[in-house]
Amino acid sequence: MPSIFTQIINKEIPCYKIAENDQFIAFLDINPNAKGHTLCVPKQEINKIFDMPETLYLDLMRFSREVAVALEKTVPCKRVGMSVIGLEVPHVHVHLIPLNDMKQMTFQQKVTQSEGELNALAKQIANNLV
Ligand code: AMP
Repeated sequence: MPSIFTQIINKEIPCYKIAENDQFIAFLDINPNAKGHTLCVPKQEINKIFDMPETLYLDLMRFSREVAVALEKTVPCKRVGMSVIGLEVPHVHVHLIPLNDMKQMTFQQKVTQSEGELNALAKQIANNLV
């Protein structure tokens, strides 16, 4: 069974897309720790980040940095935090989280946003990509 992120990549289920190229996609997390919480995902379905081929891993870091720079321009925050977990979805993804407080890295505190807000935010971040 393909992962939920592969289903997003294959356009079988929708997402609030920020960026996409041949190898990666970035979209808003559906259950965000903070406004702008974004996931950067390789299209190749690999379970664990450190099992990735080194080149793909480094390219994911480059892609994530580009998205993080756009995110920090868009969402007021002290800095963008980065985390890799994968206990819920076993398909590599980098969490980018605009931070004002350490609690926003704990995955215990969630924010609610309407579909309209999420759509608008994804577009604003996309517009700030270089
Ligand atoms: P983890 O695998 O523990 O790193 O967490 C998976 C993350 O994926 C969680 O933050 C979820 O909110 C997020 N997530 C799960 N399904 C979706 C989806 N359909 N669209 C966007 N984010 C999702």
